[in-house]
This record gives sequence, structure tokens and C-alpha cells, in this order.
Amino acid sequence: MKKTFIDISNGLFLGILSSAWLGYLIGLRLLNWNPPLWNNFSNIFGALFFTALLYSILGILVGIFFTFGLKAVFLIIPPIRKKLNFTRSWIRTYAVVMIVLFTYLTITRTRPDAHVLIYDTHLVIAYIATLLIFYGFLLRRLKNFSGSIVKISLLPALIFLLFGFAASYFGTPKPSSAALGNPQEIADALSAAAPDVKVAVFGVDGAEWSVIDPLVEQGKMPVMQKLLEEGSRARFESLNTLKSPLIWASMATGKTPEKHGILDFGSFQFPVMKSSFINYPDGIGFYRLVSRLMPMADMPVTSTTRKVESIWDLLSLAGKTVGVAGWWATWPADPVEGWMISDRFTYTLFNPRASAQTLKKGQTHPPELLPEIEGFVRLPDDMAPGELSRFVKGDVSTGFAPEGWQSSGHEEWNPLYQLKLGYTAGESFFNASMNLIDREQPDFFTVYLEGNDMVSHFFWQYMDDSLYPEPLAEEEIAKFDEVVPRYYTYWDSLVGAALEHLSEDTYVFIVSDHGFGPVSDPVIPYRGGDHLPYGAFLAKGPGIKPGYFAADASVLDLTPTLLYLYNLPLADDMDGKIIFDIFTDDFKLTRELENIASYETGRRTNSSLTSSSADEDIKKQLRSLGYAK
Ligand SMILES: [Zn+2]
Repeated sequence: MKKTFIDISNGLFLGILSSAWLGYLIGLRLLNWNPPLWNNFSNIFGALFFTALLYSILGILVGIFFTFGLKAVFLIIPPIRKKLNFTRSWIRTYAVVMIVLFTYLTITRTRPDAHVLIYDTHLVIAYIATLLIFYGFLLRRLKNFSGSIVKISLLPALIFLLFGFAASYFGTPKPSSAALGNPQEIADALSAAAPDVKVAVFGVDGAEWSVIDPLVEQGKMPVMQKLLEEGSRARFESLNTLKSPLIWASMATGKTPEKHGILDFGSFQFPVMKSSFINYPDGIGFYRLVSRLMPMADMPVTSTTRKVESIWDLLSLAGKTVGVAGWWATWPADPVEGWMISDRFTYTLFNPRASAQTLKKGQTHPPELLPEIEGFVRLPDDMAPGELSRFVKGDVSTGFAPEGWQSSGHEEWNPLYQLKLGYTAGESFFNASMNLIDREQPDFFTVYLEGNDMVSHFFWQYMDDSLYPEPLAEEEIAKFDEVVPRYYTYWDSLVGAALEHLSEDTYVFIVSDHGFGPVSDPVIPYRGGDHLPYGAFLAKGPGIKPGYFAADASVLDLTPTLLYLYNLPLADDMDGKIIFDIFTDDFKLTRELENIASYETGRRTNSSLTSSSADEDIKKQLRSLGYAK
């Protein structure tokens, strides 16, 4: 029985080895799905080494399964024991398992857009060739080598490695280094910025025209009413993926997520890697393995995930002052000309309770600003009952747990908590930035308000329950049917209050990343609203047509249009366009700009994720809210 291989140490070894190879293969696929990673040896090494390592840990289980599983099979079916040479059957089993797994990985093209067939073909050839060599070698040597498989497997492992590198070398086109702009051209363009242009952009997450219009008609959004009379509006087309971090980054850069690099709520980066990545084959639990076994490699997106210049970067370079408050993925705060209050300044949906206390850096730029404005931070639990009564009718002292909520077990899903969180975050960003504007109005100001999205998700159904299959409790409707409209009235008043702080000639923009509508079949029973592809766009200021309904615009168009206002040329590598439709002919005569190739100088290209002591809390939050697996 000694030569049967069915002892635990050999079983474990084979299990670990086979899984490590599987991991290595997943590492290769991962590289193929994220071509920019190929341009750096640290990235290639990090991806291959750490995926192999992670899966080899999983291999302990596989090894135990091999050992006892096969033992059991042979015990149950004695004839097999007589007929087959144990060694050979063992290795055949192993080969079959590996090939099945590999075939599975190869055919599960869950993201066909993210990789190309030819890459994987090379991997298939390399992998099968290596397996054949390994098995041939192993079988021959085993005749007179009853000892350690460890030694025997070193050579094939090396061969496999070489095959892998060869396959990746020949199979993957080297990514052309991203087209960079001409430094002189960029400098010339930026030096020509128009003087005295002041802009304020209000980012209202999920603002929806079909809610705004009736409220304006009823006189419940007086500020919007005035802005609509004086400015131009449009439907604002979102991206294919209605995930907030991507869309807000596209608005701030004029580029698609593939270019700006923010592709999800989180991103991965193994130790020694120089870049983060987002696309991965999850056929065999990649996400769970990384997040459980190597949590430091799985991080929430940060400002440093963004690979390209944003509007506040460009305006800073053009000598303009900027003030940015609360935008997605702005932590750690960018070193802008002016100030920035990052999204981790207070609690937000993705910056949960604990993290605000553990973060020690990057919340504001300049860092000295933090102690000056910290007093404006408001937390969900200190929202006063009087404030709550602005939105919720009747008794607000008892709190609120809708039917079925307890079973979900996540405090963050409590609608009332969502309302408080969005409201206090908005108040924090708004009041802090008004304080700074009163000191001096920056040339460009923007504040992001998340709360509108949160109340729309959780209270939409009370506004119009006719579309929902299950009838809602009368008392809940009576209490909450006004939450969404009242929240619109509330942010309308915030915009109005801000205008008091801003100079008369300030260009005012109101933008949302997507629209909202009812969910007919909600996954979370008390979550009644969901994202729709068209958000809202409104612009008002000198040279913008009054009372005008413009043709559809895209979220990608915001940055090009802002550049145009500042008399800065559009770059060819931007995916958005200038929304000419909203400008008067007279205004267009004052701007005649030739595009430049690009504003990119490569300074952000190799930037990567910034880890923080808050990552664990944020990831927990992402998981509990269903934004990560
Ligand atoms: Zn959103």
C-alpha cells in the first residue's frame, strides 16, 4: 500500500499543486482581462504569484478531498483496486480534474468584452502542453521513484512557468502606451483660460425630471422654477452601467470608465503590483478568496484609482481656484489649487460609521483645512426630530422599521437610517463648503449630494404604490408618501441657499448621474425605487439660452462643456462633446477653440489604490449593501 499515493501528505501535496496551477492560470486570465497590467513586470509577477498562492491555500481542501475521496472510492469498489494501478489512476484523475476545471474556466466567458479569444487560446495550448509534459515525466519517474513528488514536480513547474510567460509574451499584444498630450500644447491651451468665469455645479444623485416637473408646477421647487426659466435643460444620458462611482468620475473627466479607471465600487491590487485591476474571472470564487484570504488586496476605490485628469485638476493647472465637496472617489483629496473636501469627510453610504474615526489623512486638501471645518460634520444619529419632520409625517420619535426589515439584519438597510445618513452627509458637505465660499468664492465650485438617491431607493413606493404588486400598509403610506417630494423641495432650498453665497454672474449647473423609477419586483422588499438611464441636466448663466429644452446630452459632456465655458479647448481623447445647443449664438462667437490631442501627461497613469485603515469597514458595508459579493 505504500506506493498507492493515497496517504495524506502526498494527497495534500497534489491538491495544493493542482490548485496552485489553477491559480496561476487564473492569474494569466486576469492579466488578459486587464491588458494595462502587462506593461509592468511587478504587475505580471504579482498577479501570477498571488493568484497561485491564494489557490494553493484552497488546495489544502482539495488535497484532503483527493486523499479521502479516492480512498473511499477504492474501498467501496474493490474491483477497481485490483484492476488499476493506483498511481496511474491517481494521476489520471488529477489530469481529468484539471482539464475539466480548465475547460470550465475557458468557456465561462462571463465578460466577453473584457478579453480576446486569441489570448486564451495561447493559454490553453500552454496549459495542456505543460500538463502532458508533467504527467509523462511523473509517470516515468515514479517507476523507480517512490519518494517525494515534490522534487519531481519542480522541473515541470518551471516548464509551466516558462510556457506561461512565453504564451503571454506571444499571445498578448503590448498595449500601446496611452497617447499623451504634447506638454507645450497643453501649457499653451491652459494659459488661455478666460478670466472671470465662475461656475457652481450641484451634483444631485438620481435627480429625476418626472419628479421635478410636477413639483415645479405646484410651486414646491421655487429655485428650480427660476433656474428653468432662466436656463437650459436637457435629459442627461447616463452610462451603460448605472453605478454611481463610475458615472461621477465620467462626469468629472469627460471619459469612459475604461479610460478613467474607476470601474466599480472596489478594486484589486496584490502586494508588489503597481496598478489596480477590476476585471477578473470569478469562475472559482476569485472574489471570495481574495477578500477573505488577502483582504489588503481588495480595496474600495480611491481618488488615486483615477488614471486621468479631472476638471478640477485641469482648472487648477490653468491657474483657476477650485472648491470640491463630497464627490465620489475623491479620497485622498487631490492637491488642487483651492480646496477639496473628500468623500470620506463624514459618514456616507460607503464610508460607514467606524471609518470616519479611523482615517487620519487625506480627508481634505489642504490637510490643515480639516480642523477648521470639522465642526460642520454631522452624523446620522444627531438628526433632530424637528428636521426629520421635514420629510416624515406624524410621529417620528419611535423610529421606523418596515415589514420584513428585521430579517435582513443590516442596520444600513433601514430606510430611516438611509434618510438620516444622506441628509446629514449632504448638510456636512454643504455647510462646510458654504463656510469656505464665504471666505472666497473659487472660480469653480461643486458639491455632491447623495441623499436624493438614498431616499428614492427606499421611499419611492410610498409616493406611488399603484405600480407595486404587494399593497403597502396604510399607516406607512400615510407617514412616508411625502418623503421623496419633500426631499426634492429640501435640496431645491439648498441650491437656493447656495446661490445667496455665490456671485450673481455664476454659471449654475444641476446634474444627476441617472434618473429614477419604480422597481416592480424589488430584491429587497421595501426598496421601491431604482436607477433609470436618463438623469437631469440644467445650466444657467450668461450666454446660456433661457427657458430652453435642449437635445439630449450625456454625462460625458459635462467636462467638455465646462472647459468650453472657461475657454479651454476640448481634448480629442475625451469621449464627451460640448453641449453647444444650450449656448446663444452670441456666446459661441466668443469661443472659437481648436481641440488639442490630450491633456494627459502621464502623471496619473501609474497611480494606484491608496489603502486606509478604514478599508475593512468600507468593504463590510459594500458587502452588506450588496454592492460586493
Ligand atoms: Zn447614483
